[in-house]
Amino acid sequence: MPHVITQSCCNDGSCVFACPVNCIHPSPDEPGFATSEMLYIDPVACVDCGACVSACPVGAIAPDTRLDAKQLPFVEINASFYPKRPEGEKLPPTSKLAPVIPAAEVRARRRPLTVAVVGSGPAAMYAADELLTQHGVRVNVFEKLPTPYGLVRAGVAPDHQNTKRVTRLFDRISGHRHFRFYLNVEIGRHLSHADLLAHHHAVIYAVGAPDDRRLGIDGMGLPGTGTATELVAWLNGHPEFTSLPVDLDHERVVIIGNGNVALDVARVLTADPDDLARTDISDHALEVLRRSAVREVVIAARRGPAHSAFTLPELIGLTGASDVVLDAGDHRRVAGDLAAVSDRLTQTKLQILSTLGDDSSSPSRRRIRLAYELTPQRVLGERRATGVEFTVTGTDEAHRLEAGLVLTSIGYRGKAIRGLPFDESAAVVPNDSGRVTDPGSGRPVPGAYVAGWIKRGPTGFIGTNKSCSLQTVHALVADFNAGSLTDPAAPPGALDDLVRARQPDVVGSAGWRAIDAAEIERGSRDGRPRNKFTDVADMLAVAVAVAAPAPPRRRRLLARLSGES
Ligand code: NAP
Repeated sequence: MPHVITQSCCNDGSCVFACPVNCIHPSPDEPGFATSEMLYIDPVACVDCGACVSACPVGAIAPDTRLDAKQLPFVEINASFYPKRPEGEKLPPTSKLAPVIPAAEVRARRRPLTVAVVGSGPAAMYAADELLTQHGVRVNVFEKLPTPYGLVRAGVAPDHQNTKRVTRLFDRISGHRHFRFYLNVEIGRHLSHADLLAHHHAVIYAVGAPDDRRLGIDGMGLPGTGTATELVAWLNGHPEFTSLPVDLDHERVVIIGNGNVALDVARVLTADPDDLARTDISDHALEVLRRSAVREVVIAARRGPAHSAFTLPELIGLTGASDVVLDAGDHRRVAGDLAAVSDRLTQTKLQILSTLGDDSSSPSRRRIRLAYELTPQRVLGERRATGVEFTVTGTDEAHRLEAGLVLTSIGYRGKAIRGLPFDESAAVVPNDSGRVTDPGSGRPVPGAYVAGWIKRGPTGFIGTNKSCSLQTVHALVADFNAGSLTDPAAPPGALDDLVRARQPDVVGSAGWRAIDAAEIERGSRDGRPRNKFTDVADMLAVAVAVAAPAPPRRRRLLARLSGES
């Protein structure tokens, strides 16, 4: 009865560290860890202790006897990562796990290592976690929204609640006595990099890749065009995207690009709104989806099926949850690719694609069509988008698809950070193992570090950031131990005064806990995991109430926000 890792695997490797028999691979120190689509349990070596189940932050692991029908393909997927061996034969122990970071040197004349982390998504929280394993280290996390956790809150599709469970781990990290949240504080607006350095030994920027890669074709920008990542933010109630115009009056949506974000959006646009109503989807999105006229979402890729950017676990999840079809031409492309490829992962993806229905029958429910070898040329329409013109890749043959909404889903893009160097072509901050480097001299910029997507580009999964942040923290601690980080010039305790002077509406851990509790309470009335606040003023009203007793007018507002009559 071995355990099995399933779709929501976040790749953070917590299970690898928990496993007493080293049967989960690739481990963070093995080649392939950074690019692996998921981690795999060796069914022969697994001793069924369940340690990995408790360690997994997203509930992705279960014994093979407890899987539901949709999860059963993962039994074979886990096993096929390992060479075929006779039952009972154990793997030789592999190389040791990632080394533990050296203790920060604490000399009597120095202040305890104090680090500012900018951003509060997975890379930020994993960096904080690693730093706080060191005795005495202090971590202050700065976030421009009043709510933390970045893309886990605003970028994970609302129907992937298991993935969002990683926030429980982040809640534990933020509960550490040497962890402080400074939420609703924007670096570059309320505080500068120099301000942070005056109060910390070092700053780790874990700000992600907040922009979208833009597709430079005519017609993008017309009403009825947008990006998939904006739509995900809108679905998730991100306060900056609540008024995104999302028009679902036409029966077709076209998404350009076929990565996991495209799959997320297609799945949600074709889902039963009653199912979505049991998630933390924003009320405004649910209302639009209930009125949607969409019958088909086409995910259009410029290359062939063997180069699909989506991952195998997400393809399995999609085909289990939605009606997914290919047209006859794409079925032929899949068959051709299947005969040509040799790597197991791509073969498995293609085998799944080959079992999909074709698009000839009239659909009984909303469906998703995966389309291949379509290079986008222009968005059609005068005043608003009416479709997309593609060419069949590598030819001049035009192919038009009518649509009322055209979304690009061609990846995220990092944004320059004021005061730090930036590599425009890769859209990352130049760095060496997380140390920000000056592109002219190649030398480290003292006190500046990066982790996550702004360090390595927008690829990988939530848990990929764990080893990425660990590497940055290693570098930072080594620099501190070597004496190359100077003690902060400002006295201890001065930071709070500075922040409050610049941003009186700063939200701390207690404020966030109040927002969190209020959202969960609002959601529980309708059987939902939470009902998010989508307006910053509403969040602040709840957060401020815990900092000071509310005057009568605010009490009435709070009562209204929490739905009391
Ligand atoms: P992505 O995986 O990088 O996919 C980008 C897609 O855009 C590819 O199909 C790419 O095609 C296409 N593309 C790029 N430039 C194009 C152009 N000029 N014209 C047409 N197509 C173009 O990006 P993503 O979906 O935004 O995902 C970002 C990262 O987040 C990925 O690592 C993803 O796995 C991760 N993520 C994971 C999950 C999950 O695990 N559930 C969910 C969401 C996101 P080519 O391949 O031909 O370049």
